[in-house]
Amino acid sequence: MGGSLYTRGLHALDRETFAYLSPPGTWGWSNCGLVVSGDRALLVDTQFTVALTRELLDAIGAQCPGVVIETVVTTHANGDHCWGNQLLSDAEVIGSAALAHGLADEVQPEQLAALSGPSSPDTPLGDYMRRHFGIFDFTGVRVTAPTRTFTGRLEVPVADRTVELIEVGPAHTDGDVIVHVPDVGVLYAGDILFVGGHPIMWTGPVDNWIAACDRILATGADCIVPGHGPVTDPAGVKTFRAYLEWVAQRAEQAYAAGLSYWEAGSPAAIPLAYGGWGNPERLVITMAAAYRALGDGAHDLTEVLAHAADAEPRKVSR
Ligand SMILES: [Zn+2]
Repeated sequence: MGGSLYTRGLHALDRETFAYLSPPGTWGWSNCGLVVSGDRALLVDTQFTVALTRELLDAIGAQCPGVVIETVVTTHANGDHCWGNQLLSDAEVIGSAALAHGLADEVQPEQLAALSGPSSPDTPLGDYMRRHFGIFDFTGVRVTAPTRTFTGRLEVPVADRTVELIEVGPAHTDGDVIVHVPDVGVLYAGDILFVGGHPIMWTGPVDNWIAACDRILATGADCIVPGHGPVTDPAGVKTFRAYLEWVAQRAEQAYAAGLSYWEAGSPAAIPLAYGGWGNPERLVITMAAAYRALGDGAHDLTEVLAHAADAEPRKVSR
């Protein structure tokens, strides 16, 4: 296991356990998971838009005909993981209580459409938003809250199989949940794990995120599906954990030296080991969260995003 090709669509990790992968894994292109038992199934996350979620459900219908999705697990409140939930109105939708509280504070579909649409501001941030989010059509998305919440840990049956939900946030967001499938050694990490791209720490603290990586490793799962990027293994989690340790150290040193969070998060500071990862400008967002944990006051989100847009390394165009 773990050797799935990184191509768009539903990949079998085991006979009744799947990963739905969405290359290139950059902003908004998120992965989902599917655990089947007989004619019942549990889905881990939906997609960013109604159309992309229809595509996901069509792929499931084609590969698992007759299977009924009775449970949806939402790993966290970011739209790219739950803005298709409305298409599964017959299913129980499970998320952490912290996620449910955070749902209203998240950017809403209409806001994101305005920020990334053709009439978005003519600024570097507007340009950034248009290029990264302008391809998604948020028309018709109704943000749908979980029908069941939990804290800590929850075992969920899928016919004769059992899936374990573990709350590990706040880390990437307030209410992060990872999904362990013990009978096949598979773990769906949501955005606790990014592969091939720089993560975004919206909330932190980073120590909690490092502990979440340890929690993943402690399950003994050997096949790990990240929220973005190709399927990986425990070695991939350890690499990501090392990156977070570097973030923690960089934040402390830069904060003590009086650097701004956007200087601390400059892509120029990134060690060679992570030099090939995409979206290095997202380190600015991560550093803002790390700085808040170190004592910085609240930051304005638009300002943080504007600094990230400024830090984006751009290919020189013609
Ligand atoms: Zn995501």
